Amino acid sequence: MKKSRKILITFASLILLASVFALLIFQSSMIPRIPYSAPEASHQSWDEILSSSTPITIQTHSTGIMQTDLSGIMNLDHERAADIQEKIVEIPVNVFIILHHEFGDYLIDAGLDSSYANNPHGTIKGILAKKFLGKGSQEPNTHIAAILEQQNIQLKGVWLTHMHPDHIAGVIDLPKNIPYVAGKGERYVNFRFIMQTDHLKGIEALYEIDFSKGIDLPPFGKGVDLFGDGSFWAIESSGHSTGHVMFFINGADEKVLVTGDACNDQNQFDTGIGPGYFSSDIEEAQKMLESIISFKEQYPEVRLLFGHDHDQ
Ligand SMILES: [Zn+2]
Repeated sequence: MKKSRKILITFASLILLASVFALLIFQSSMIPRIPYSAPEASHQSWDEILSSSTPITIQTHSTGIMQTDLSGIMNLDHERAADIQEKIVEIPVNVFIILHHEFGDYLIDAGLDSSYANNPHGTIKGILAKKFLGKGSQEPNTHIAAILEQQNIQLKGVWLTHMHPDHIAGVIDLPKNIPYVAGKGERYVNFRFIMQTDHLKGIEALYEIDFSKGIDLPPFGKGVDLFGDGSFWAIESSGHSTGHVMFFINGADEKVLVTGDACNDQNQFDTGIGPGYFSSDIEEAQKMLESIISFKEQYPEVRLLFGHDHDQ
């Protein structure tokens, strides 16, 4: 055999081996995606939405505590952060139960699953899990499945602000025969041997909200009327993650914007210092926080609920 041919065969074999290995690692992050088909929007502007009211309410629950670098959730390179020191902070992992009198009960985010009561990394495995993940902790019976059981809630579906592990871990303990809905293009981090989460195991497909068909909701981008009755809206808010979604609850008793990690807590809102290195695009995340602040100035009657606030 000629030497050049030998080299070629070796090279091709190496490429084949690398591809098989890459597929083995990344295959678990590939979940089939289906477009979420939202009904026609019932309103065309914030003024129309806010002047209507619908039979929907929201509850907040903490599913445990995560330890994390402050710079992960807050951009310490921001000019207003000059005097803020890096430290480990403890943040609650919040979830929200939506009760719609006509359409039933839903969840926004799934928080931490029951394994965090005994294991600081929950069910997450892999060589990078311990190095890069903050430690979680949990009081007994405060995981999401226990909260739902205590209230005898039969979920109709789960809406996800984004798919970072602290927002989807609880899916492990939830029914699999209901729709799970995220923003279009949101990534599922589940890499075998490296950072294996498997939080969506058993779910056949993920529904995705396509904002190109939504209405303009300044100062944000597009919004989608998820039930078609003006009660519950998804608002595009990429920055913290590629397909991040905020949710607006247009209740008769109160109007609420669930910010997810576009704004982690009241302190982030008050300082105007945007999300830190956990974000996929820090500049975009900063702009999104500024949009949330100007929205609240414009509509002070709307209550804000944050992804990781202690006092909600
Ligand atoms: Zn989070």
